[in-house]
Amino acid sequence: MRSSIALRPGHKIRAVLPRSSEPELAGGAGFLLRFSALPLALAGLAACDDRGVRAAPDAPNVLLITVDTLRADRLGFYGYGKPTSPELDAFASGAVVFEQAEASAPWTLPALASVMTGEVASTHDCWNYGSTLDDSFRTLPELLVAAGYDTACVVSHLFTTSRHGLQQGFVHTDDSFAYPEIDPAENITSQVISDKGIRFLDQKKDSPDEAPWFLWLHYFDPHKEYMQHPGISEAFATPGARTRGALLGDVYDGEVRYTDLHIGRVLARLRELGFDKDTVVVLLADHGEEFEDHGGVGHGHSLHVELVHVPLAIRAPGFAPRRVKEVVRQVDVLPTLLDLAGLPLPNWLAGRSLVPAMKGQPEDAVGALAELDLSGNVADSWRTQRWRLIRSGREGTPQLYDLDADPHETSDVAAQHPDVVAELEAELASAKAAGRERARLFGGGREVTLTPGIQHDLEALGYAGADGRPVSPEQPEKLETPEKRDGER
Ligand SMILES: [Zn+2]
Repeated sequence: MRSSIALRPGHKIRAVLPRSSEPELAGGAGFLLRFSALPLALAGLAACDDRGVRAAPDAPNVLLITVDTLRADRLGFYGYGKPTSPELDAFASGAVVFEQAEASAPWTLPALASVMTGEVASTHDCWNYGSTLDDSFRTLPELLVAAGYDTACVVSHLFTTSRHGLQQGFVHTDDSFAYPEIDPAENITSQVISDKGIRFLDQKKDSPDEAPWFLWLHYFDPHKEYMQHPGISEAFATPGARTRGALLGDVYDGEVRYTDLHIGRVLARLRELGFDKDTVVVLLADHGEEFEDHGGVGHGHSLHVELVHVPLAIRAPGFAPRRVKEVVRQVDVLPTLLDLAGLPLPNWLAGRSLVPAMKGQPEDAVGALAELDLSGNVADSWRTQRWRLIRSGREGTPQLYDLDADPHETSDVAAQHPDVVAELEAELASAKAAGRERARLFGGGREVTLTPGIQHDLEALGYAGADGRPVSPEQPEKLETPEKRDGER
């Protein structure tokens, strides 16, 4: 069911309205063209060599929608009680919903690097604000381009710019909103991301080019600074005395609804153009957000459930709607999409295809590794179906949470289950060692120079204090006065 909320172009996104000189997506003059060379380092690796395998004429298109900072439990189709996501709920009702999808990291760059490479941080080596994904990785769009796909991305975050390597393999890229003229955290970009995405779909519909396409849209608005959206946010304000985390969460909920509204426009156009019949649509978040669940606010500082439990829903032609309860991982997205595209799975992949799970076929359980090593925050998480083990710090004491009894991870039960701790610690160590071993297949991570301008942008997003130290949960933040209105500076 379509929303009745009226869009008001030009009001909410004044600061980021497309400029008249802005290049057209998909082949327009001035559009950045970029072809990534196949990494020579891996040329001899694949016993089942995927190079030269072309997608079938009826291979599906792929629309990957990622939403920054989107907690799974703030969406209706994951049980949230407030109406943050009617559009996404409608989408999910026709999709395979993964109830226990785990992020590889609790902040943008390493998590999205895992989506694009199918590797954990120990392998792709994107740990820091200055990290750049090495060219030796064969990313999802590179693999699809090699199979004959046209690839495009419209992205809205500093870490998704070409600066950090995540655009490898995209023939058409548009990150003009990731270099904003005002503080990036104050931008509202969902409308323009959707406008661009819709323009791509329209152009593809008119194009004589029969090649299947892959489009990645990255939405940013639920990321702090949380903004008020007139006509939307009011519905999420909870009267009465509230904690800071709850107050911030209310404003965040409005951001989620605003983003949901604009994603709904893309999904509607997909349907209007008839693309829904032959397009795989993926909804995914890079990571979640904390609202004082464990004493902090924001992300990038811990590996608790509110930060690493992400929404994942896949709607694919021929697949019935289903709920999958088993733990799955961001590194599984790449092999899943190759599988759905009918392409062979390279034998170097770390993750596995979720297509059997999408068909309801039982599979062996997997554990999910999440890693963090950023500005002094160091932690690892190992998640199984029942347990989460978190080891914080270089030599930290392990914490254990029984997710069956304690899904919000409020009670550390490590002392009661030393045998479980020992078993999970061994699995965690093995997973990290495997990740590091796999890193030898690829080039090491590179670092970009953090110029004062980049540092300023990062600080505006709350990633680092003015003195370069990490933003700690205790540090006063601008978040406490989230009364800015759309379009205001
Ligand atoms: Zn993010």
